[in-house]
Amino acid sequence: PEIQSITVLGATGSVGTSTLDVISRHDHFRVYALSAHSNTALLLSQCLQFEPQYAVLTDEDAAESLRLQLRKAGSQTEVQWGAEALSRIASDADVDVVMAAIVGAAGLLPALAAAQSGKKVLLANKESLVMAGELFMQAAVASGAVILPIDSEHNAIFQCLPAPAQSARGNLAGQGVRKVLLTASGGPFLHTPVEQLHEVTPAQACKHPNWDMGRKISVDSASMMNKGLEFIEACYLFDLAPEAVEVVIHPQSIVHSMVEYADGSVLAQLGSPDMRVPIAHALAWPERIASGADFLSLVTSPDLQFLAPDLSRFPCLQLGMDAARQGGYAPACLNAANEIAVAAFLAGQIRFTDIPRVISGTLAQITCRQPVSIAMIQQLDAEARAVACDIAAGF
Ligand code: NDP
Ligand code: MG
Repeated sequence: PEIQSITVLGATGSVGTSTLDVISRHDHFRVYALSAHSNTALLLSQCLQFEPQYAVLTDEDAAESLRLQLRKAGSQTEVQWGAEALSRIASDADVDVVMAAIVGAAGLLPALAAAQSGKKVLLANKESLVMAGELFMQAAVASGAVILPIDSEHNAIFQCLPAPAQSARGNLAGQGVRKVLLTASGGPFLHTPVEQLHEVTPAQACKHPNWDMGRKISVDSASMMNKGLEFIEACYLFDLAPEAVEVVIHPQSIVHSMVEYADGSVLAQLGSPDMRVPIAHALAWPERIASGADFLSLVTSPDLQFLAPDLSRFPCLQLGMDAARQGGYAPACLNAANEIAVAAFLAGQIRFTDIPRVISGTLAQITCRQPVSIAMIQQLDAEARAVACDIAAGF
């Protein structure tokens, strides 16, 4: 296969390291650039292994320290820092593929830069679609960028779509798609008595039964806000009305999502719960390459169960689905308030059960308006963060 030049944004994270693991198994990927926030030690060893042209960190001091260490080790990698450098390594003419795996709202601008410059974008950062789904997908259509979902559910849905729908967005109903079944594990608290949820700790919330992920998304999985965000993500990615997306609890995380067709057929994608599967799929699409993940052994797998979600147990899921239906300003504000609430919970400042209260309180205080530009989305994001901080401080 042809050599492909790739930038990995968020290289030191859970998705970032899995991406480099898949890349290291094949010789037709050349790493163009890697980015991290503050983990210079891991970025250093990744630079020595993959010899990228550029490494980008968030701040100047960390960049200087990495620069010195790389020079000492005889590396040719050039170190840069800051938001502009991130967008540059996502849009440079020399880049073919961008893995967008920064966590949270910080991932929006570089992912958007990749979408605007016509790259093949492997999109893990669901927050960028939640915040700016409309504008993001429009940018991709305008530039000819190909957006391949990395989120395991959306990657599964993508794999179950008819081939023409994989190449061009929209009109799924015209191709016989009736609805999308978005599976959710239910997280670590699926069966915890509801009255005990107010005393769960960050360590318990971060211990996902099937997946090993970063802390923010792990808390989101425990509250099922992750599924709320994914509900919104699915609507924008596949141009679906909220009524065409249904959440199904599937505690084993073996079926990663499904597509139901007009004739009653349901197509599912199954696999081990290992992010290297969707990453390898997207890296190679429309071909297939090895991922390093274990193959499924269905006869020794636990029984597969499917249940309806209990929205009273998981108010964050309800909030996410409501925001999808409301559209406009709601998803960006929901995302911002959730990031603040999750950080406050991880810092021991609020209870797990306060997370949905911070979010609904924030949404109630922000004036409803239609975001028509990225600048306006960033303004909404900042406003919602300020309100959410105030509310969280009051608990
Ligand atoms: P991690 O927390 O493990 O990693 C996040 C990465 O982003 C790290 O490289 C981190 O650098 C970097 N980063 C963090 N904050 C900033 C910032 N302010 N500016 C620039 N870079 C930053 O996250 P995950 O890998 O778990 O998740 C990444 C994205 O993928 C998220 O949007 C998540 O929702 C999505 N996703 C993740 C899945 C998973 O299995 N983990 C599954 C599906 C989706 P540093 O290490 O230096 O802090
Ligand atoms: Mg997911």
